[in-house]
Amino acid sequence: MSDIKRLVVNSGNLFDSLTGTIKENQTIVSKGNQIVWVGEAGSFEKEETDQIIDASGKTVFPGMIECHLHLHMNGETNMERATLRTKKDMYHFYSLVNAQKQLVSGFTCVRDAGSFTGIMPSLRRILDYGVFAGPRLVNSDKGIWQWGNQEEVYPESMIAWAREHHQVVAGVDSVKHAIRDLKFRGATFIKTATTGGVLHGMESKVSFSLWTDEELIAIREEAHRNDMHIASHAHGKAGIDKATIAGFDTIEHGSFMDEESADLMIKNGTYLIPTQMAAMGLVSPELMKTMPPEVQKKTIEVDSAMKINHKMAFEKGVKIAIGTDAGTPGNYHGNSGTEAVIMVKDVGMTPTQALQAATIEGAKAIWMDEKIGSLEKGKLADLIISNKNPLEDITVLQNPKNFSQIIKDGKVMVEKGVITYFSPIEKPPI
Ligand SMILES: [Zn+2]
Repeated sequence: MSDIKRLVVNSGNLFDSLTGTIKENQTIVSKGNQIVWVGEAGSFEKEETDQIIDASGKTVFPGMIECHLHLHMNGETNMERATLRTKKDMYHFYSLVNAQKQLVSGFTCVRDAGSFTGIMPSLRRILDYGVFAGPRLVNSDKGIWQWGNQEEVYPESMIAWAREHHQVVAGVDSVKHAIRDLKFRGATFIKTATTGGVLHGMESKVSFSLWTDEELIAIREEAHRNDMHIASHAHGKAGIDKATIAGFDTIEHGSFMDEESADLMIKNGTYLIPTQMAAMGLVSPELMKTMPPEVQKKTIEVDSAMKINHKMAFEKGVKIAIGTDAGTPGNYHGNSGTEAVIMVKDVGMTPTQALQAATIEGAKAIWMDEKIGSLEKGKLADLIISNKNPLEDITVLQNPKNFSQIIKDGKVMVEKGVITYFSPIEKPPI
């Protein structure tokens, strides 16, 4: 008989993310990192060594999934100053602590959408080994950028810094090489951009896409052939539509999408990751005063367009998963539950739909739905036991103290907002 003890979460009200319903008085049994049994409380066969958590009266739902963040960034309001004062090695530690903030806030899986080369693949392995408490990590490495559209107006010393963060590629062969190289370095998905960005320099346009159709198709073919999905940063319509038509899997931001873009995304099954928290962070007075006038104007336009267009997209039926761009200026780690609240208050989701967006829809968006996103036999044991029911009040997701336990890989990692998991040092994981 195996000496692996089972974890039993007993008699909870289970949120079935597949149907959007609550099933009362359900028990979940996990062994190792896997759910091995789900059913009516009392009808499972007890084992002497079972670790039993009483979840009666509590709501049990799948660990939430954050589809767009940057773990190495801390939300500093002065990015240039922070960059100049941060030695590259320090980003490893920032990434770990930010990953832990995400875990504590109920996100047991996060997708990192661009970092310095090497940091995320290493962190993913360390977290998979259980060396530290932290969420499951799906990671790009550095992003692949189109030539010239994502302008970096920096001194020469910082251009070198930027090159470690994203790589400019042009031409079909160059694109294919970049994707294979990223796979080799440990990326598990590809992050690219089909428009300029809000903060990427005054000349960085959000309104057009520089990639040729051949390059876009090459990105999709090569990434999918290597079992990696593709996320495209896209604010303007041209970049949103081109990425969707080329078969990319997720559109990040989607600020200036119109009804035609929404129809294309519905037809292609493309997910929208709204990241409204990013724009909200940027339009704060503290940040606005640090920006040149053109960037201020661009920021205000993006913020107001997102609010209108994401609501339109949802109403038409575009699939949406939760992502915040946490780490960008004024957008701090640990607040991703607020994006689900925004989906209810501003986009028009019901609390049930918002919790589905944060669980099963997130899993589908990032190709993880065979492993996570719902509480079923055979899936990984990532779950939250909450004292309050987020379907009655979605703002429950904003306060980690509501979660009595957060379990990842079958291990209780967080209790009442505090990390209680430490790696067993007598059993080195590697
Ligand atoms: Zn981002």
